[in-house]
Amino acid sequence: MDTGLTVALAGNPNTGKTTLFNSLTGARQHVGNYPGVTVEEKHGMCEHNGERLRVVDLPGTYSLTAYSLEEVVARDFLVQDRPALTIDIVDASNLERNLYLALQLLELGIPIMIALNMMDVAESRGLRIDADRLAELLGVPVVPIVARSGKGRTQLIETAIEAARAGIRPRTFEISYGEDLDSALAAMEEIIIHGAFLTETYPARWTALKYLEKDAQILEKGRIAAADISGQLEAIALRTAAHISATLNTYPEALIADHRYGYIHAMMKGVVQRQATKDRMYLSDTLDAVLTNRLVGPLIMLLILLGLYKFTFTYSEVPVGWCESMFGYLGDLADRALPDGLLKSLIISGIIDGAGGVLGFVPLIMFMFFGIAILEDTGYLARVAFMLDRVFRMFGLHGSSVMAYIISGGIAGGCAVPGVMAARTLRSPRERLATLLTAPFMNCGAKLPVMALMIAAFFASHEALVMFLLTLLAWAVALLSARLLRSTVIAGASTPFVMELPPYRLPTVKGLLIHTWERTWQYIRKAGTVILAISIVVWAMMTFPQLPAQSLHTYEKLRTEELISAPAAAQELDSAEEDAELSESALQLRQALDAVDRKESEAALRNSIAGRIGTSLEGISRLAGFDWRTNIALVGGFAAKEVIVSTLGTAYSLGEIAPEETGSLPETLASSPGWNPLVAVSLLVFVMFYAPCFVTVVCIAREAGSWKWGAFSIVFNTGLAFAMSVAIYQVGKLFI
Ligand code: GDP
Ligand code: MG
Repeated sequence: MDTGLTVALAGNPNTGKTTLFNSLTGARQHVGNYPGVTVEEKHGMCEHNGERLRVVDLPGTYSLTAYSLEEVVARDFLVQDRPALTIDIVDASNLERNLYLALQLLELGIPIMIALNMMDVAESRGLRIDADRLAELLGVPVVPIVARSGKGRTQLIETAIEAARAGIRPRTFEISYGEDLDSALAAMEEIIIHGAFLTETYPARWTALKYLEKDAQILEKGRIAAADISGQLEAIALRTAAHISATLNTYPEALIADHRYGYIHAMMKGVVQRQATKDRMYLSDTLDAVLTNRLVGPLIMLLILLGLYKFTFTYSEVPVGWCESMFGYLGDLADRALPDGLLKSLIISGIIDGAGGVLGFVPLIMFMFFGIAILEDTGYLARVAFMLDRVFRMFGLHGSSVMAYIISGGIAGGCAVPGVMAARTLRSPRERLATLLTAPFMNCGAKLPVMALMIAAFFASHEALVMFLLTLLAWAVALLSARLLRSTVIAGASTPFVMELPPYRLPTVKGLLIHTWERTWQYIRKAGTVILAISIVVWAMMTFPQLPAQSLHTYEKLRTEELISAPAAAQELDSAEEDAELSESALQLRQALDAVDRKESEAALRNSIAGRIGTSLEGISRLAGFDWRTNIALVGGFAAKEVIVSTLGTAYSLGEIAPEETGSLPETLASSPGWNPLVAVSLLVFVMFYAPCFVTVVCIAREAGSWKWGAFSIVFNTGLAFAMSVAIYQVGKLFI
């Protein structure tokens, strides 16, 4: 006998499932128990225009986590019997709470539709529900009905038959659960997919979520299926739970529920008019009325941003000074302890002035991260994304792009690598690509030391303001580029979107400190390993090949000539202990000798591999105001942008002879002839927008699925950056 397609009815208790079931199946019902358990199983047939549907009434549940027998029964039926369609009966007068189950059904990756029941009750309460908008946001059909009166019944059946026959799976449905959980989920997903762990039955991310939720049934199944993989997942879940407990003082289950409700809550803003406020969300809603207000919200957001920068620069000034003097002291120490030669040059110019220049900004980075941790842990950052969603749409992007931007350094100090990966949550390939390609324009942690250096050297009196303007510039350029890309190389329509708005939380001091330290430590570790290694390589490229013996001889001769021309002064220089004792003529001689030394080291640097590269690019880079030393730094910056600072440090250190005479790098730059505020601005703009660092390019290529896009980002970004820098420098020169 042809029993037709199976359709399951799911829903919270008391949403009218049984009423609908009776109305659909009439008298043809069978009641029994689910195999092995005493939960009632009811099924019956529904006929419509010759089409037969087998309808199964599932037990009413609030969630799909194995907390109760009903939940296990409903879930097992859905994944084992695989009905062609599940109709989720939702109480329209209680939409927010009811959609919690709908989200879980969607996460399970099964085909569903929504029956929006009790529309009469909703209307009598004055709620206006936009069913089409809800359908668009969830990506599944939504049909409003009144099960008790039979209103909407025909449309429901027809939609169900059509959906069941088409057998369309909904698009992959992923909610972001915040950085901590998302990264754990990503790691677990990789293990699950790699080991084909329960993937026959459940989507990988769903299984990962169940491990985080400590779902007893899944844990048991998992241990039987593959004990080793299950063990790895349990370890990650345990570690994540400990981390969440330490930083946010809560449990993964609670955080997951918060984000699900946050997602629904945000979705409601576009679907229900005149919604009744809910207890848990009450305080958050009151705050949001101000903080995400259309007019006041963005203003507050800008003020908070400016405040963050002010805070960072004000409080980090003193400790940054300590760091500088510490590295200065180390340099002096090395200078006195080591004999002249390559080793000394490597240690002072390569390591201390190179990697040390990057480490010197650790206190600043730390204060910045602390401020950002506050914004993130309170839940404010999610609001920023929510507010910017509207703006982002105008530029062909998506609210989820906001998070990718922020992670990449949208406020400052992120990293484009996780930022690019965060773009995975975007469902439309075009919007994802546009996000991938523009997120690297944000001010990542590696660009920060460059900014800090330029600001310290040339804009020390307006630190916070300059930082603020650079942030606005980064966003403006990223958005305009996105618009450009979305109307040319990656043109296409946008998709609907919902941003999670979890309730506000009061962050704990301990949580803030841990989050700050985690990120700061990443920065330190990178400076101490990758950047150190690159600094050494760059130092070698700036040192070899050394000057040929003949030109060394020429400089030696110049020095000797100076000494011979003033024998008395030479004698005095040789024997004097204190500078104060020197006579006028001795000082003159020393200056002359220093000048020769400077000429020699400049010639040596120019003669090195790096120097030759820098010099060969000078013809064109001059247009933007960059000399050959800056070129070396910029080429090195492709490896990692911190290298720009370390390379400038090495270049200016190699260019000088007596380390005790040199000030800090910002002071050196401020007093160097090739530098002025205009060059600094031109360089900042170039560094902000030129080719993403090597690792980011690899990530872009991987995420976009083609090397073409990695190469595109190098060429497009560098071209754009150079055009902007040239324009700034050439126009600026007219006014200076
Ligand atoms: P179940 O627990 O999901 O099976 O829900 P029931 O079918 O038992 O319905 C619960 C209550 O809601 C019953 O009193 C129904 O009469 C009532 N009900 C069901 N559908 C509607 C509807 O569309 N409008 C109204 N006003 N009441 C309904
Ligand atoms: Mg019932």
